[in-house]
Amino acid sequence: MPKVIGLRCRECGAEYELQATHVCEMCFGPLDAVYDQAVMRKLVKRERIEDGPKSMWRYRDLLPVEDSVNIVTLGEGFTPLVKADRLGAELGLRNLYLKNDSMNPTNSFKDRVVSVAISWARAQGFETIACASTGNLANAVAAYAARAGLECFVFIPVDLEPAKVASISVFDPNIVAVRGNYDDVNRLCSQLLESTPWAFCNINIRPFYAEGSKTLTFETAEQLGWRLPDEIIIPIASGCQFVRHRQAARELVEYGLVRSDRVPAFTGAQALGCAPVYNAFVSGEERVLPVKPDTIARSIAIGNPSDGIYVNRIARETGGVVEAVTEEEIVDSMRLLARTEGIFTETAGGVTIGVLAKLARAGRWRGDETVVAYVTGHGLKTADVLATANGHAKRVEIEPTMKSFRQKVNI
Ligand SMILES: *Cc1c(COP(=O)(O)O)cnc(C)c1O
Ligand SMILES: [Zn+2]
Repeated sequence: MPKVIGLRCRECGAEYELQATHVCEMCFGPLDAVYDQAVMRKLVKRERIEDGPKSMWRYRDLLPVEDSVNIVTLGEGFTPLVKADRLGAELGLRNLYLKNDSMNPTNSFKDRVVSVAISWARAQGFETIACASTGNLANAVAAYAARAGLECFVFIPVDLEPAKVASISVFDPNIVAVRGNYDDVNRLCSQLLESTPWAFCNINIRPFYAEGSKTLTFETAEQLGWRLPDEIIIPIASGCQFVRHRQAARELVEYGLVRSDRVPAFTGAQALGCAPVYNAFVSGEERVLPVKPDTIARSIAIGNPSDGIYVNRIARETGGVVEAVTEEEIVDSMRLLARTEGIFTETAGGVTIGVLAKLARAGRWRGDETVVAYVTGHGLKTADVLATANGHAKRVEIEPTMKSFRQKVNI
């Protein structure tokens, strides 16, 4: 009995057969995967999940893949949920946790969505996988296409960080470097769709891709002892994962996986240099006006976020907020996280921790709430934003002698 029975428009409710498409023909609203509730209620059980693999595929019953033989995996997910006592002490939070998604196979959250997208595409017989990317997505798509032995085209802005280009190229995909920003890349790919039989992970097969995000929240609940936290801080690019985390909380409650039916506050994090969702949130507007990105947080620099409007609805509905931080706060927060918890995150993680710190210092929490921040990418991806090691304040250079050591180092 199939679990996934079709697609439904989030705006007008129009229903579609299962296929590689992502916008409603009636109203241009986004399409979401629809599950057969009766099948799901019988299928989804804590025991089955706990007996599953130590990867996000322990949640396969809640994902749009019917047959395990098609799963394309590199062991993504089930990343550590770290209790952050030292960072928590600095911020006055006694129950602060970090979901460290930089521990994924290609070191970002994107492995979750891509593993589901490529598994779905392979099951449907697609031979070429593609994507429009700010970097991390191209990295994941190139790796998983290699793993599956599928043809791969990744479209990236021409000025992507060197570390990201290297970690994409090694998987030997076709790389199309577009002279423009991410929004230009995305527009080009949407035009290309009409004439290519390709599965663009974040465009035509987006409804299936998006579903992979839910596993991050499923795991968080399981790792907290089948309990949802009071608040979750999530970085926002397109807003795609933010929306799915709300859905994941709904499913955890609906299928009885968590005891309480209280849903967390969902809080969004953006860089002020690309803050279209934050702008709309603070002005109280429904519409999200596009901006031209200018920030070191390149992996989340989407000026025209497709799910922005839903992010703000969810933040307001659940008692969350959308906050934004400066470039300086991003780098300071990368250092703060590394210094207090030993976790090296990229600029997007700096945005998340920056927003967490800003809200904590502004007195948002009493101190005993369970707050979880999603750390979505690894620091080596954006190491160029940190000052060189030579500029490090605690560095000394010495002769290889005891005398020189004693002269220069105070211990
Ligand atoms: C893609 C990405 C996100 C968020 O993506 P959405 O488009 O909002 O789903 C967050 N952090 C990192 C590191 C990413 O690569
Ligand atoms: Zn519609």
